[in-house]
Amino acid sequence: MQSEQAIDEMAGCGGGCACATGVGKTELRAVDDGLRHDWTQPEIAALFALPFNDLLYQAQAVHREHHDPNAVQVSTLLSIKTGACPEDCAYCPQSARYDTGLKAEKLMPLDAVVAKAKQAKEAGASRFCMGAAWRSPKDRDISQVNAMVSAVKALGLETCATLGMLSREQAVALKAAGLDYYNHNLDTSPEFYGEIISTRCYQDRLDTLAHVRDVGMKTCCGGIVGMGETRADRASFVRALANLPAHPDSVPINRLVKVAGTPLAEEHDLDAFEFVRTIAVARITMPASMVRLSAGREAMSEELQALCFLAGANSIFYGEKLLTTGNPDTESDRALFAKLGLQPLTVAMSTERAHTDTIERAA
Ligand code: SF4
Repeated sequence: MQSEQAIDEMAGCGGGCACATGVGKTELRAVDDGLRHDWTQPEIAALFALPFNDLLYQAQAVHREHHDPNAVQVSTLLSIKTGACPEDCAYCPQSARYDTGLKAEKLMPLDAVVAKAKQAKEAGASRFCMGAAWRSPKDRDISQVNAMVSAVKALGLETCATLGMLSREQAVALKAAGLDYYNHNLDTSPEFYGEIISTRCYQDRLDTLAHVRDVGMKTCCGGIVGMGETRADRASFVRALANLPAHPDSVPINRLVKVAGTPLAEEHDLDAFEFVRTIAVARITMPASMVRLSAGREAMSEELQALCFLAGANSIFYGEKLLTTGNPDTESDRALFAKLGLQPLTVAMSTERAHTDTIERAA
């Protein structure tokens, strides 16, 4: 269940945009999935404040109830349209507003995307994510992306896209083309959001997520920590995710990658233990979701990544590049998996897991 208070707090971005008027507000009702959707801020703050060992113990116990503790889902992310984005996300080198030296590129041709997807599959990825730097796609963009989705799906990969804000009709079209997941992040807490983005509001994000859920696609939704937010903001961010009507199927937790030329280029580093705490609290509050260790992994030691897996992370991006920033190379990831005895989840295993979850939640 979701409390009225939680809904009201999540829906407003605090800006002077349409969400202040309630225009286009999506009604949020929790699905009856046997999971909690009514976390309070004090409850989540109390998890963050636990002694580190107690927090990790609790997170690992929850993790083992819901997941194979030694399996990791592996996704590869490809930027299919890079840069020149009109939005002003303060962390993003793809925003046209910041001089980061990034070369803008048009939408990739279909055959080039399929070639990259084949490579990702051969390297061991089970999911292929296609990202485009748009505020929201035009309908002609959707037709082109749909062709990519169908072709990637035909290779036996799970498909994911992140294209910006979607209308319901666009979500319907992507679902019909075979898209399994749609990524749309909340980015941060409702309270801190205005410090990071001014060109779209929190409610816009909730609306896109609602369209994706309503048409039956799985949601991938998380955000970034280390952007100068407080621990209370991190708690509120995790709460916003955990109190969504359905927990995101995938929850990417990114650690800020500071890119020269962006407003956050000089931000202070987030303490590594605080990052692990955020992963652990996400695991406890969204027990059945795949918690993804995302951007920022290149700067993490193997030991820190191992702590994140212990805290409940069970998904990574695989491949040398995220959309435009670096990522560990696949050989290093394979070596780390071998050292830790981790196994990549196959598409068949994650389909089987989703099937089991559906049966268990229906019981
Ligand atoms: S995060 Fe996405 S929407 Fe924001 S500037 Fe970057 S590409 Fe554009």
